[in-house]
Amino acid sequence: MQEVFAALGLSVLERGWLSSNNVVFQASGGSGACVVDTGYVQHAPQTLDLVARALGGSRLERVLNTHLHSDHCGGNAALQAAWQCEVSVPEASWDAVRGWDQRLLSFEATDQRCDRFEAHRALAVGSTVQLGAAHWDVVAAPGHDPEAVMFFQRDHGVLISADALWEERLAIIFPELVGGDGFGAARGALDVIERLAPRIVVPGHGRPFTDVASALACSRRRLQAFEQAPERHRAYAERALTMFHMLEQRTVPRAALVAWLATTPIFVRMARDVVGIERRAEREAHADDVVARLVRDGLLLQSSAGDLQVR
Ligand SMILES: [Zn+2]
Repeated sequence: MQEVFAALGLSVLERGWLSSNNVVFQASGGSGACVVDTGYVQHAPQTLDLVARALGGSRLERVLNTHLHSDHCGGNAALQAAWQCEVSVPEASWDAVRGWDQRLLSFEATDQRCDRFEAHRALAVGSTVQLGAAHWDVVAAPGHDPEAVMFFQRDHGVLISADALWEERLAIIFPELVGGDGFGAARGALDVIERLAPRIVVPGHGRPFTDVASALACSRRRLQAFEQAPERHRAYAERALTMFHMLEQRTVPRAALVAWLATTPIFVRMARDVVGIERRAEREAHADDVVARLVRDGLLLQSSAGDLQVR
């Protein structure tokens, strides 16, 4: 794997859960140094540092985003401020990001943060981009995010899959939380990956891996289980988004976390549009149950003063 990465001038900065991985490409020929995905805003100083170190003093010319979730583009603004680099986003996200339209961007709905950045180019599905020494295909990756793209390098069989394929587990299928169809699209993206037959996958979270067949099988099993019981997918999403919030906030009074779950727009929409709950009191009762389970399962610790922390 390392020889292939060296040939492509690529290094993977594997990050913790709040930030996505960053894939750094050294400058090569006429193509300047670039990075795919930039982590969460809270880690932006660390991202800046890690990217600078990976580039060993050369200038970052471009940032490319697989999709505009806060954990994938949260470092864009800081990198742009440091290097005045150009930013490329999926074509489907172009209008939202150009106008910084909060109704279309996901940050407000999930109560996550992202500093505003400027986008310069749209990544069209079916086109090719030069990253480092090689050309990479821009491939649609709907499901987790209908606007997401992946990057595929044919000659070396390397796929930057973002959140469309992880080694284990399956990312939240966001459209399903608000009454849309996402499971079918996610299955389609897995089929596309199988047809591309990558030998190495660099996921958005976790280490790069080569056992693609078992990752696909694992994702398909989870997807099928979620399709058969969408309430399990909603419960998984609530827990994952709550843990993301807790990783960001570190310590939150229990009552504040319950209120956060009862008022954050994505949960309000999910309750109203999918479950049919309109009243805040009902949402609070449900939120209290979600928090109680996270404490019972040992993911959150509750102090005697009623403060919650990630274990
Ligand atoms: Zn994502």
